[in-house]
Amino acid sequence: MTFTLTPLGTAAPHPQPGRPCSGYLVEAGDAKVWMDAGPGTFAELQRHVRPGELTAIWISHLHSDHWTDLIAAEAGISDGGLGIERPIPVYAPADAPRRLACFYGRPDPGPLAEVFAFRPIEDGRPVDLGGPAPTSGAVEHGGPEFTSYAVEHGGIEAYGARIAYDGAVLAYTGDSGPCAELSRLARGADVLLAEAYVDRHEGPPVHLTPEDAAALAREAGAHTLLVTHVGPTLTPDAATARAHAAFGGRTLRAREGVTYEITKNGAHGAS
Ligand SMILES: [Zn+2]
Repeated sequence: MTFTLTPLGTAAPHPQPGRPCSGYLVEAGDAKVWMDAGPGTFAELQRHVRPGELTAIWISHLHSDHWTDLIAAEAGISDGGLGIERPIPVYAPADAPRRLACFYGRPDPGPLAEVFAFRPIEDGRPVDLGGPAPTSGAVEHGGPEFTSYAVEHGGIEAYGARIAYDGAVLAYTGDSGPCAELSRLARGADVLLAEAYVDRHEGPPVHLTPEDAAALAREAGAHTLLVTHVGPTLTPDAATARAHAAFGGRTLRAREGVTYEITKNGAHGAS
């Protein structure tokens, strides 16, 4: 039983050639979770799994670079022949179904309910995102314990995640400025997947600097820091170098298509 993280996209705030926006495939036991669905990530997802194999989709927040490929997925599943046996559970901020319905010009999710089963994220409540997706009654799952934490991202509903499986922990900041909730979700993480979007703060923090990501990793006692979601005022390599200098521990640039094995001693399989 393995626990892996495969970045599908790390770019921000827009996709670049060969680099989609935020999206990750998390596999643990029988769980296959598409974690954030930024533009371009649905194409990359298909290198690894079929949509029908997904046990859940998890959306950190409703900025376009984190969720708009749900529209691409809907097209692929409804019209593209990428069949699914049951609606895919989508854990997302509560307004997600209404917002998506607006894109289709509908007052309600309507036919979308045949593709996505939206479930509002509950702050701090662990859920099992293993499969198969429950259609009725209790289902025995063999997936990770996936806990969402409400984080500070410019006043919108936004979450980070703490994913525990077989004694190892992967923590993901989502998009957030430094806040107590990030410390809670990252404590003791073996691997911290952290955004490093901004070069410096101008006004109240909405994102992390590379040094913020490093401080979070140090405080958490993380074994490996994976740097992702670097914004336009930095390059991924520069942000990773700065994070490494400030952290002092193992620091890697998250790379699309690389599968990192999450273990009690950090991430393996990385370059
Ligand atoms: Zn954002």
